[in-house]
Amino acid sequence: MTTRRRFITIAPFIGAASLAACSKAPEPAAAPPAAAPTPAPVAPPAPAAEPAAAAAPAAQVDPAEPAAVALGYVALASQADTAKFKTYAAGQVCSNCALYTGKAGEASGPCPLFGGRAVAANGWCSGYAKKG
Ligand code: SF4
Repeated sequence: MTTRRRFITIAPFIGAASLAACSKAPEPAAAPPAAAPTPAPVAPPAPAAEPAAAAAPAAQVDPAEPAAVALGYVALASQADTAKFKTYAAGQVCSNCALYTGKAGEASGPCPLFGGRAVAANGWCSGYAKKG
């Protein structure tokens, strides 16, 4: 039997033990979830560049533009200014010029002398060089 004195002596421990038994031991606080980085807004993929520029035929050289005039370019070789450009000879046309990169049978093709722009297959300029 527990005496009053004994009870007073052990009461604080009984209370502490009871509290410990009844209360759930505090669990270590879980680490707060790491703040997920806010995803940067994702822009929709840019539409593919239009291949039109690559597919489009090269711009035609205008015989009236300064560079063409300087070289005596004409869209029809027979109209070459033979008084000014004495190197012209019958039969010389862009399509049989070494610089011409157009395909056979096409009406025009690129010429590096004009930055790759198209010249007439039947054209001519003073930069003509016989295709070898
Ligand atoms: Fe034509 Fe040749 Fe003159 Fe080019 S360099 S414009 S292809 S003649």
